Amino acid sequence: MIDDADARHSWHPFTQMREYLGGPRLEITRARGCWLEDAQGRRYLDGNASIWTNVHGHNDPELNAALVRQLDQVAHVTLLGLNHPTAARLAERLSGLTGGRCSRVFYSDCGAMAVEIAVKMSIQYWQLHGAPGRRRILAMQHAYHGDSFGTMSLGDSGGFHGRFQPWCFSVDRFPSPDHVEVNGRVLASEYSAAVESLAAFLAAHGAECACLVLEPLVQGAAGMRQQPVAFVREVARLCRLHGVHLILDEVFVAFGRLGHVLAGEAHGVEADFLCLAKGLTAGYLPLAATLTTEAVYEAHLGAWEEHRAFYHGHTYTGNPLACAVALESLTKLELLQRSGRLTEGIAWLGQALENAFLGHPNVRGLRQLGFTAAVDFGPADSQCAWAPGERGALRVCHEARRRGLVLRPLGDSVLIVPPPVIDRSEIEFLTTTLRAALEAVAPGLPVQPISS
Ligand code: PMP
Repeated sequence: MIDDADARHSWHPFTQMREYLGGPRLEITRARGCWLEDAQGRRYLDGNASIWTNVHGHNDPELNAALVRQLDQVAHVTLLGLNHPTAARLAERLSGLTGGRCSRVFYSDCGAMAVEIAVKMSIQYWQLHGAPGRRRILAMQHAYHGDSFGTMSLGDSGGFHGRFQPWCFSVDRFPSPDHVEVNGRVLASEYSAAVESLAAFLAAHGAECACLVLEPLVQGAAGMRQQPVAFVREVARLCRLHGVHLILDEVFVAFGRLGHVLAGEAHGVEADFLCLAKGLTAGYLPLAATLTTEAVYEAHLGAWEEHRAFYHGHTYTGNPLACAVALESLTKLELLQRSGRLTEGIAWLGQALENAFLGHPNVRGLRQLGFTAAVDFGPADSQCAWAPGERGALRVCHEARRRGLVLRPLGDSVLIVPPPVIDRSEIEFLTTTLRAALEAVAPGLPVQPISS
């Protein structure tokens, strides 16, 4: 039985509540490892890592212990003019991940805010640095950086945010690389046109630009749209050439998601601002961080009456419990990476996806990079997916859930984002269950309620 308080009082994010309340509902009451459990003890593989956050599995004994240790000390204390050592130690550790280049860490609570803070800092930096004319902000086609007004302005997801457009600030949009299909797999490989377009814009307007915001390598919310490493490097080079701040939004791609602790760093891409959230606490608590350079930080120093301080802050900024878990998670992640498990897991996932979906008559696209993947449904020989009203991908997800797998649809695709710690048999279960669910759901057939 689902708790009726949910039906009477809850309002869920990114959810058409009428559809939700009319469909098969699932309530999770406990979890361990990569598995979620409902009140009846039924288990579900967490195929979207609890919205892309979970790294080491749920209910991890070491993360739990780190949390309890901190709880015995202090649960929360403000960072507004005070300090606590756990936040400082985490700041030191995060800075170390960039080799000390991004030496300053500003905490917040969610990915959107981490990005918005970076943009605000960049704007303020140029004002303080005697270049107030650097006002333009560049963001990529298909971008998603969050749902606040600032990040909606940066975003390019009309379906989510179109109605708020009149209240958003304008940005200069540059194209993303084109996806090209190679042997049934969709890869982003055509990037020269996108780079040329950005280069031409910067040649004309570079001196007017404050910053460029990029989700490097994978745009998750756009449906796992990929960019080649060479593209990210080119964007970084152009930013450097024109003195434009590069803001890497690694909210989605960091902390093992692509097999590395940080995605840009792993490929030698040096950002002026690095935005982290989601996997920072391995899916335990809300914490975000905006990292930046000493140069940006120093520009904000001065006597109080000069008003150079960065006037931005949130009540729970740098929460000690969240910082304690983040520290422990980083230690575990570094061990996981050194053990080769991440590389191995990514290869298993790639193979399992190909076995299940390459050449499938109802699959028209398959993309995978690291522990991120998308399967696009619809006749393989056509560009048109199922009719929108049929909610094909949602129905496949409901059917997968009946079979013990939790995934999220996006349009006519299903997004696959398992915890990086997932093992080989769990990957097999994920791909074979999704395939079975796809085959069980033909458009027009009703989905069985989950309790049946
Ligand atoms: N940036 C990226 C790349 C994201 O994928 C997301 C969330 N999916 C965000 C920012 C926003 O993060 P949050 O939901 O924590 O605000």
